[in-house]
Amino acid sequence: MAVKLIAMDLDGTLLNRQKGISPENQKALEDAAKQGVLLVASTGRAWDTIPDCVRKNPAFSYAIASNGAEIYSCVTGERLHSVTLSPGSVEVLLQLVGDRKVGWEAFTGGKAYGDEDYVSHPWEYGLPSSGIGYVKRTRTPVADIRAFIRENSDRLSAIDLIVSDPVVKKQLVEELHASGEPLYVTASMDERIEIHQKDAGKAQGMRFLCQREGILPEETAALGDADNDLDMILYAGVGIAMENADEHVKVQADYVTADNDHHGVAEAFRKKLGIIGEEERKGHEFFMREALRQAKKAAALDEVPIGCVIVKDGKVIARGYNRRNTDQNTLSHAELNAIRKASKKLGDWRLEGCSMYITLEPCQMCAGALVQSRIDRIILGGRNPKAGCAGSVLNLLQVEAFNHQVEIVDGILADECAELLSTFFQKLRERKKQEC
Ligand SMILES: [Zn+2]
Repeated sequence: MAVKLIAMDLDGTLLNRQKGISPENQKALEDAAKQGVLLVASTGRAWDTIPDCVRKNPAFSYAIASNGAEIYSCVTGERLHSVTLSPGSVEVLLQLVGDRKVGWEAFTGGKAYGDEDYVSHPWEYGLPSSGIGYVKRTRTPVADIRAFIRENSDRLSAIDLIVSDPVVKKQLVEELHASGEPLYVTASMDERIEIHQKDAGKAQGMRFLCQREGILPEETAALGDADNDLDMILYAGVGIAMENADEHVKVQADYVTADNDHHGVAEAFRKKLGIIGEEERKGHEFFMREALRQAKKAAALDEVPIGCVIVKDGKVIARGYNRRNTDQNTLSHAELNAIRKASKKLGDWRLEGCSMYITLEPCQMCAGALVQSRIDRIILGGRNPKAGCAGSVLNLLQVEAFNHQVEIVDGILADECAELLSTFFQKLRERKKQEC
């Protein structure tokens, strides 16, 4: 199913160590936006502290800020939705933390405020050196943060605590859960506790945007690296974790992509979500038309119309179409016919450097043969939900334990490929009716 909305975390996901977007990631964002995919920045940051490279990036449509407690339009800057902590919960939280040494941050109206002593010496509260510049730049210092929190207790989207001691952090989290207050407690980084009203969370933010845009959860993808990304990774149709993600996040994701310093977002867009540039798409369409011509040869023989071509160095080196009935042979699938011809032409069973264009997702036999042939990648026209082994029923092409994985490009001339099949089966049904 084609993806229509992609939500992505920023720190540790889209942004590299320098807190910027690499040219590779930027191109992937632009390619996706051009294809009409809605891009959503999804972060624990307050709206005002989201860097301009994201907020003013024309590729983004929306921002889920403060871990889903606030949602903004990136186009107009308008706040579309917000959930705030209840004053009762805020008071319980203040009492519960008491005098323990923690750095306090409070988020309201898209802005972030911080305890003055913590903002001027954040390292004393356990903030790692990588986060110091960011906190100093983005937190407005407040002399008496507790008084500030009480004054604004009916309009806080989040309270963040910075806790250096992991034992104290664990205690505080347990006490917050035990308090019985309606809270969503999470963390984007080891030293943080991020506290919101229970209806916050990045998944809730995605749910809100899906309803607003009329998009199904299975038509979405989400990328992230930390605990506060887990709910949206589980909510999305395709949940993607970064290589640098926490282990428990990686385990629960559908796919693990490269880390944030190696354009993991761009890699996932291309390899898992089938998002490619316009020029590359046009090149793929050229060869898929040739595969469609092969499929029509099968139709002419009353065979299920599936066709493929194998391309090397920009040239078609082999063609194949389904001849299972004609040959009375299980092995006469389009892909195997083409693999045989390509190997004969190259004088080699290895199809390294080759790509196969196929009008329909391969079956388990052909997917197995493709892995065995060590082909670089396949480019798919249509998916086969009942029998496809490039991700639909299972994904034999990208089993990590095998010594070779095949890249998949998805959805090239998908409508034409689907129409060819549906016309064939429609005619078949009509003929059967006449015979009855
Ligand atoms: Zn097959």
